Amino acid sequence: MIDLKQYEVWFVTGSQHLYGPKTLETVAEHSRAIASALGVSKHLPVQVVFKPVLTTPDAIRELCLEANSSKNCIGLVTWMHTFSPAKMWIAGLTLLKKPILHLHTQYNQEIPWSEIDMDFMNLNQAAHGDREFGFIGSRLRLNRKVVVGHWSDETVQAEIGVWVRAASAWADWQGAKIARFGDNMRDVAVTEGDKVEAQIQLGYDVYGYGVGELVKLVNEASDAEVDQLIKTYLDEYEVVAELKPGGARNSSLRDGARIEIGLRNFLNAGNFKAFTTTFEDLHGLTQLPGLAAQRLMRDGYGFGAEGDWKTSALVRAMKVMNQGLEGGVSFMEDYTYHFSASGDKVLGSHMLEICESIAVGKPKLEIHPLSIGGKADPVRSVFDANTGPAIGASIVHMGGRFRMVANVVDVVPTDEPLPKLPVARALWLPRPNLKVATAAWIHAGGAHHTSFSYSVTAEHLQDFADIAGIEFLLIDENTKVQEFKEKLRWNDLYYHLNKGL
Ligand code: MN
Repeated sequence: MIDLKQYEVWFVTGSQHLYGPKTLETVAEHSRAIASALGVSKHLPVQVVFKPVLTTPDAIRELCLEANSSKNCIGLVTWMHTFSPAKMWIAGLTLLKKPILHLHTQYNQEIPWSEIDMDFMNLNQAAHGDREFGFIGSRLRLNRKVVVGHWSDETVQAEIGVWVRAASAWADWQGAKIARFGDNMRDVAVTEGDKVEAQIQLGYDVYGYGVGELVKLVNEASDAEVDQLIKTYLDEYEVVAELKPGGARNSSLRDGARIEIGLRNFLNAGNFKAFTTTFEDLHGLTQLPGLAAQRLMRDGYGFGAEGDWKTSALVRAMKVMNQGLEGGVSFMEDYTYHFSASGDKVLGSHMLEICESIAVGKPKLEIHPLSIGGKADPVRSVFDANTGPAIGASIVHMGGRFRMVANVVDVVPTDEPLPKLPVARALWLPRPNLKVATAAWIHAGGAHHTSFSYSVTAEHLQDFADIAGIEFLLIDENTKVQEFKEKLRWNDLYYHLNKGL
């Protein structure tokens, strides 16, 4: 449901007229070759569009305005093949609203030692042309990614690809609608925040609904639609006997299916990209939407429980970054600890709503009491999560600004089977270890909810936070608590001054 090929990055080359038309033709030829190599690179999931070489302030300004108003353009990749005096870029760059990546590359790969002359040097001078461009970017305090290396190098293409994914998620957020059924879980602080500021700074809009509006669509789901969805469940899951047609609790599965149909229709009709629920406001719903949330997340919707719209939006963004990659993205919560000599671990889960995209094997469809909320027992899919490196990320509202915190973790198999735990789960070792990672997380005010992924990396999130202009705090194998605390203090100062009140 997320098509990244709808998006374009524009490949923009800077130069100047002093070189004469012949050199500029060669520059354009080289630039076109690089753009088409990036366009076919497996690392770039979007279209790469070559733009004519820019040699005047007017042309640069026009290009930036065109990028701003282009629906499909998600950002510019800029490169100064030759020298492009950077005062020419001021008018354009100060107007530019789209993300920017500065590719510091050179058309020619190796110096032709026996052939090199001044003409060659003058044509292959990104080494100083890009420094001039870099200066104006820094002088303008422009948030951008800088990627250095030969354009044919896979690692260079991969770095550009990471930024392209972050820029895609950013484009997806602009004007995105999030449906919030019910309000916040009463008294909870971290799931609150300033929704107006989120829309100003992050681009998405949170729409609140009374749960009754959802209930109306749930009740409108026909028996035939429910029958059809039950068939899908029987195909896709290992369904416990009591839930199967003819089983003692089949009506609960039918209720779950009805909720999924109603919720899906609601989100489709309103063109929503993400949603939240809260178990404290289920008036008129027979059960908390568990299975429905799990399946909608699998299909690309963002989700946050207890009214957590910030995590819901982040799950959606990470699903966009993740599109077409191996490994999934899920809503997650740090639930309980395992302190042991073999390494302190976190068991992550939620009451119900973990996304099936991170499941190992075929999930089981089960029914169990929720033991909170006073509603009927909800149906849910139960599974273990994949193992391997992963990342959990949280965006919190610090009052006046947003902060992203992320922790790199290693998901491991559970020490023993968990026959009595009726929810999907993942067990992990935080990096560098639970003691340091969790102290840092708590100092940063990171939430108990996260968006959790196996394919989105710290680099994706760093690029995304830079595009959004928000703070990014990474907790990984290099983290030390004291340094981390100092960084928190400096960042507070920086973001305070940067904003100019
Ligand atoms: Mn929760």
